[in-house]
Amino acid sequence: MSEEVLGSGSVINNWEILYKVDGKSYFCKCIHCGVERKVFNNQLRDTRINPIKARCRNCTKLKVGDEYVTNKGFKYKIEEYVSSTKVLIKFEPDDLCPDGYERYTTKYYINDGCIDYPFERSAAGIGYIGYLKKDFTANRSILDTWIKMIKRCYGPSEKDKAYTDCSVCEDWHNFYNFHRWYDKQKVNGFYQKGYQIDKDILHPDVKVYSPEHCRLVPEEINSFTNNVHCDSRKSNLPTGVSWKKRNNKYQVSIKSGYNTNKYLCLVSCPKEGYEIYKKEKLKSARKLADKWEGLVVPEIISALRNYKSPEWDWVANEYIKEVF
Ligand SMILES: [Zn+2]
Repeated sequence: MSEEVLGSGSVINNWEILYKVDGKSYFCKCIHCGVERKVFNNQLRDTRINPIKARCRNCTKLKVGDEYVTNKGFKYKIEEYVSSTKVLIKFEPDDLCPDGYERYTTKYYINDGCIDYPFERSAAGIGYIGYLKKDFTANRSILDTWIKMIKRCYGPSEKDKAYTDCSVCEDWHNFYNFHRWYDKQKVNGFYQKGYQIDKDILHPDVKVYSPEHCRLVPEEINSFTNNVHCDSRKSNLPTGVSWKKRNNKYQVSIKSGYNTNKYLCLVSCPKEGYEIYKKEKLKSARKLADKWEGLVVPEIISALRNYKSPEWDWVANEYIKEVF
């Protein structure tokens, strides 16, 4: 089969023919960038090439210093071109990476725009992942725990009102750090599936989630201190004491188990009621300590054994804050 000879000046697949070199190739010029080089016959006549979209290699060459933006809007520059599958890029500096985060990616991802930036504050505008997805596989339930903790502190819903004055330590804004902490707790021998993160038992007045204050505990221990402040804000009475209009008395009750309230008695004086509540709370703390001894970290057990309900200020109608 004989092929038609391409005349000088004709344009085919974005190449302008300058002259014929030999039977196999022509010397051509790219109509986009003007680069001149030898192009093989079969490439010029390749019908799979889309003549509108096609660009020569020089047209798509990544140049050091060129600026791009990821699909999520993060700016970066080409730092070094090693090969099409290994391109070093550097993101614009931000508060987390003041020197600009560097990573490798490929030419394909650069053209696609789909490039991870591990310091994007994607959780409630505060939390960030902290690693490249190709480098680490996170445990789904640890991720859920972390997201809930961040949202509880920085994106509060109605349900989370009790946590609005809480925060997460900076180290844990980085999910990767939180994950490593969590993994360490799992191997300390005091962990079972389903344990939850608790920050209230060790230091009831500290409002910061951090490695110093948090431990993993069973739901039963976690709910022991949960929502103490929440109830009291509405009623102007300490947890455990509520006014019963029908009886014209104060009712004393204690949370037992997860969500049920155990009725204790009716009293005329709220102070007396709170003393009864505190005694009962002390008993259930000791019960929990006996039940979980050896199954949770020893400091939790001793915190339960030394548990003291917060004191109530009957004039200001609020808990007396202990100062650390
Ligand atoms: Zn070109």
